[in-house]
Amino acid sequence: MLGPKIMIGKKLAILLVIGVMSMLVLSVFWQGTTAVTSRFDDRYVVMLDPGHGGYDPGAVSSKGIYEKAINLQIAQKIKEMFGPSGIEVLLTREEDLDYVPNGVKGKATRKQIDLNHRIEMATQAKADILVSLHVNATVTGRNSGAETFYHYKSQSGKRLAELIQQELIKITGMNRRIAKPGDFYIIKNSNMPTVIVEVGYLSSQKEQKKLQQTWYQEQLSRAIAKGIANYFELP
Ligand SMILES: [Zn+2]
Repeated sequence: MLGPKIMIGKKLAILLVIGVMSMLVLSVFWQGTTAVTSRFDDRYVVMLDPGHGGYDPGAVSSKGIYEKAINLQIAQKIKEMFGPSGIEVLLTREEDLDYVPNGVKGKATRKQIDLNHRIEMATQAKADILVSLHVNATVTGRNSGAETFYHYKSQSGKRLAELIQQELIKITGMNRRIAKPGDFYIIKNSNMPTVIVEVGYLSSQKEQKKLQQTWYQEQLSRAIAKGIANYFELP
């Protein structure tokens, strides 16, 4: 009965080889998976805040365009641009809403409750930075172009604001403003580097048209995304 025994031996050897090979393959996959997981665990977290929303439209153009809508469109575009990368982008709102409970009275109180909630969202998410997006407006209608603000005591906030503004002024037709310290509630009351980006002026006849257009919103979003990526020294 020599023959069958040799056959079994060969089968065992083949099974053993297959077994070892599959373990090798599996271990490669397993290491690959952990590598990917740990990379995502180390991701930077960016909280984008599309300013205003719900009861609060923000600036309103002469043509009835709401700032809150443009802020959200730009925030969503920035989020899309990062996609799956080393930066996780979260939004304080994904739709047209505010965070003021019913029955709260007083303009300033309502505004403060809304902003506190957004700051709290960034804190809860352990966001590395908070970027609040806005569109400006003046009574005269003479101003145009983007502006970025930071807290005067925050070196990282200043660096972030400068990197974003540096990209924004590369857009054709943009003014050459530099980032400035600003006295805004969200900048003063957050515990992480926070900036306010005013992407343009709804009060400018010329700019309000551009601000509603997808190609222009994409240029603004790409500039802000590039500034954020540069802040984290990512490509
Ligand atoms: Zn605003």
